[in-house]
Amino acid sequence: MKYLRVSVTEACNLRCRYCLPEGDLGQYAPHKVTLTDEEILTVVEALAPVGIEKVRITGGEPLLRKGVPALIRRIVETPGIREVTMTTNAFLLGRHIEELKKSGLHRINVSLDTLDPQRFYEMTRRHAFTTVMEGIEAAETAGFTPLKVNAVVVKGVNDADVVPLAGETLRRPWQMRFIELMPIGQARTLWPHGFMSMEEMMAQIRAAYGEPEPVPVPESETAKVFRLPGGIGTLGFITPMSKHFCGTCDRLRLTANGTLRPCLCDAAEVNVKSILRSGQDPEEVRQQIRQAAQKAAQMKPYSGVEQSVRSGARTMAQIGG
Ligand code: SAM
Repeated sequence: MKYLRVSVTEACNLRCRYCLPEGDLGQYAPHKVTLTDEEILTVVEALAPVGIEKVRITGGEPLLRKGVPALIRRIVETPGIREVTMTTNAFLLGRHIEELKKSGLHRINVSLDTLDPQRFYEMTRRHAFTTVMEGIEAAETAGFTPLKVNAVVVKGVNDADVVPLAGETLRRPWQMRFIELMPIGQARTLWPHGFMSMEEMMAQIRAAYGEPEPVPVPESETAKVFRLPGGIGTLGFITPMSKHFCGTCDRLRLTANGTLRPCLCDAAEVNVKSILRSGQDPEEVRQQIRQAAQKAAQMKPYSGVEQSVRSGARTMAQIGG
């Protein structure tokens, strides 16, 4: 395992219909059950010597957690960690971009499912499109390039956005990544009619722009990457459902309330909060966290999740997407 995805909060400021229900955050983890900065750092420090070299900060919406840039800086400074990245919906990005740049954060992925302000509202239930686009601009101006822009495609909702979003790569150096909808959280109610496969997206893109050319990527890369004829950016496809990448998946997830989760699509989890709060000697705590991570790694599925997505009761925002 090389890659740890850390969910720093379950809270979110958007309510994407395929992810979260409308309403307050009452069902989410209150402060005292959410890991503290020190606890997150203890997990990172315990796992860096046994192979974790990349950390992604996610959520919920990570920028809703107070002091995230300071936490990022400390993770960046942890020996053995080579890369720290963040996934955000960009709503608060403009406000925090300077601190994030100073924190040493290496890359930012933003989520953007549509270029149409009205559809953005319908999908997220929030009038946030303009602020999100300003956040994206701010990230590019601050030098977070090339930006990875993630769109979840839901048939009958934003499939008409595939072509215009792909077209952005003709004029912007984005990696525009299309993500297959997974039957997790609210998406269960859209399943299977809302599912759109990479092949279906590709057919639309091919018809509009001609044959995209494959771009070679490292084996651990989850996206299949292409370039449009004449494109300055690239297209990526994340295909957890139609062509799984379980065999090369090298990631673990740390949920905001302190469990290690081997797989997004499987409810199995290993509790580390009880270890962190056991009051034991710090070296003993680190040792037990390493054992917990080893157990989690051994629980990872190898053969795909198409047949049985058992994500349990958690939404993507709770697991850390
Ligand atoms: N709030 C941040 C953001 O929007 O990027 C980080 C967390 S969000 C849960 C991470 C990603 O998960 C987003 O790109 C979101 O669209 C995606 N996501 C949520 N539910 C999903 C589902 N059922 N299938 C596929 N992707 C999903």
